[in-house]
Amino acid sequence: MKITYPPFGDARIAIESFLRDFGHEVIPPPPSTNRTLSIGVKYAPEFACLPLKITLGNYIEAIEKGADTILMLGGIGPCRFGYYAEVQRRILKDLGYDIDWIVLDLSNGWINLFKSIEKVTNRSNIIKVMKVLRLAWEKVLAIDEIEKISRRARPFERYKGEVDNIIRETHKRLDQANNILKVRQILSEYRETMDEIIDKNSLKDLVKIGIVGEFYVVLDHFTNFEIAKRLGELGVLAENAFYIEDIVRIYLPLFRSKDIDERTRVALPYIRRSVGGEGQRTIAHTIEFAERGFDGVIHLSPFTCMPEIVADGVLEKVSKDYNIQVLTLSIDEQTGLAGITTRIEAFIDMLKTKKRRRIAV
Ligand code: SF4
Repeated sequence: MKITYPPFGDARIAIESFLRDFGHEVIPPPPSTNRTLSIGVKYAPEFACLPLKITLGNYIEAIEKGADTILMLGGIGPCRFGYYAEVQRRILKDLGYDIDWIVLDLSNGWINLFKSIEKVTNRSNIIKVMKVLRLAWEKVLAIDEIEKISRRARPFERYKGEVDNIIRETHKRLDQANNILKVRQILSEYRETMDEIIDKNSLKDLVKIGIVGEFYVVLDHFTNFEIAKRLGELGVLAENAFYIEDIVRIYLPLFRSKDIDERTRVALPYIRRSVGGEGQRTIAHTIEFAERGFDGVIHLSPFTCMPEIVADGVLEKVSKDYNIQVLTLSIDEQTGLAGITTRIEAFIDMLKTKKRRRIAV
């Protein structure tokens, strides 16, 4: 079995480690590029959401490299995510690809879910399963921490690309780490290196932006045009509403924590029930950023994503009620870097001016 998976952001490091440690031959999809997107756009239905198109492109590129099995999550609910696996399976079949799917999906019943888990874990015993999961989880936490720290360091880079170079090296080491102690040591060294870059006294003077929206677009650097990096280079502290750990906790019931539901409660006056995806959470996170004194929020929304369209419909009211500026960027295959950059730069200029005025008063 040559297995591949849907990559998103830096989660690939943990997913690969997890699959490798269960003894699978992993064929990672090549990093997403415009070619990946064009392949997805060519074969996916026109109105499918962007993550479906990109991951379809990822699969086809991985199949070209020899993958014969795809690992994916499934499910039901108001959001289309639950249908991805089935839609993509049919598209690949119609294209003549003879691929096995392992879909982790409780809606097919416990027996089928159990069979899928057996395949993923290679029928390993419980001790091995726990050990592999523990290491993969430690990597998830480390990846998130690396990303969070990088947001504080980028505005103070001593030369362009400094933070990215350090991250690249750290990710390589993290990928090779085969025990928890090693992961912690790598993280601690990374913290020390970044401490030398971060000017702690100036952090409070930076314009602070919260990034909210649909999870794949928020976390996948290719899809969001490396927005965190661009904001950092503009001297902005950009914090995500969530990182990979939160998404695992949201979408895998085994890891779910009460904290997620508590955080969402604040959105109830605006959206009374879940609309799927991150729709309700987008509102909750915007309020959270406003209450934490952030200067603005950037809302990332894949074009045709219903949950984010619903959220967008009430964001203007939230923005007024909580006195926080919100910029919504709707992203699809037509979106270009130049357009995104212009809108972000104009938004940041406006926030910087407001902040200067506030300080001057
Ligand atoms: S949240 Fe939106 S973009 Fe994501 S899978 Fe659901 S409908 Fe598609």
